[in-house]
Amino acid sequence: MTKGDEKPTILIVDDVPGNIKTLAEIIKEQYRIIAATSGERALEAVETQQIDLILLDVVMPEMDGYEVCRQLKANQMTAEIPVVFVTGQNEETDETHGLEMGAVDYITKPATPSILKARIKNHLEAKHQRDTLKSLSLVDSLTGVANRRHFDQFLSQEWNRAVRGSLSLAIVMIDIDYFKRFNDYFGHSGGDACLKKVAETLQNTLKRSTDLFARYGGEEFVVVLPQVEHHGGAITSERLRKSIEDLQIPHPKSGISDHVTISLGCASMMPTRGSSPQPMLDEADRMLYAAKESGRNQVKTTML
Ligand code: GH3
Ligand code: MG
Ligand code: MG
Repeated sequence: MTKGDEKPTILIVDDVPGNIKTLAEIIKEQYRIIAATSGERALEAVETQQIDLILLDVVMPEMDGYEVCRQLKANQMTAEIPVVFVTGQNEETDETHGLEMGAVDYITKPATPSILKARIKNHLEAKHQRDTLKSLSLVDSLTGVANRRHFDQFLSQEWNRAVRGSLSLAIVMIDIDYFKRFNDYFGHSGGDACLKKVAETLQNTLKRSTDLFARYGGEEFVVVLPQVEHHGGAITSERLRKSIEDLQIPHPKSGISDHVTISLGCASMMPTRGSSPQPMLDEADRMLYAAKESGRNQVKTTML
């Protein structure tokens, strides 16, 4: 969805430039307009631009609107963009077919300006609500960082990307040391405040926008580092460890320090076709356990 005060962008697709002009005249005050005079050009436009809604002509030479819609819906990057079919009054069209393909609406040419505007507004609002719900479903409510569901989706997507590109990938499992004692001493709300601070600090310590930091559950966190090899994973893990040590959050009952500390397990590998991320997660977990066994507040790494 368009950010800030910018106008939402609408892509108008029609093989007749005059039709594009008529629709654009009606809505150009409220929206930024992009035009495409063929299905091919429309598919190019959605690749390169952020589009909020598409007004799509059905009858066009070469690629018709149904085919454009089919390709949009088949592509994960464009599947969520609302598509409104615009049809000529005397054109033979199959509305059921279009709606079944995932279009949100049909509008008949010539469009009544007030109805066209109202329908576009409704569809954009519904899309905005869907986007909001989706982003909420991926966020951990206590800490505001990505949740387990987001992590699972992200890891599977990055795993496939790494396989395709023969790229390496690192995973870091993180666990707060003696957190049960922290909770017992400061109470649950004190524990929650600590979790928030730790999450925020770890998140801010990661530099690349391609990294994903998530709450894995309880007082455990996880990081996915795409295109990072063993050495990079080890260095990043150590930076994360130090960032929490430097916070100096008092922890009088910790068995190893006066302050809150974390233990980390890092695993890195180059994923191969047909493999799953689970063994790598298990290895990172095993390294985390080894870090705990060796005295906590430290990093253990392995390369698969
Ligand atoms: P270790 O150093 O071996 O990791 O010891 P630990 O005490 O951190 O490990 P343990 O798994 O025994 O305890 C984790 C504690 O984390 C248990 C629970 O009290 C606390 N915890 C888990 N989720 C939350 C939460 O959402 N809020 C708060 N306040 N505490 C939580
Ligand atoms: Mg046409
Ligand atoms: Mg712990």
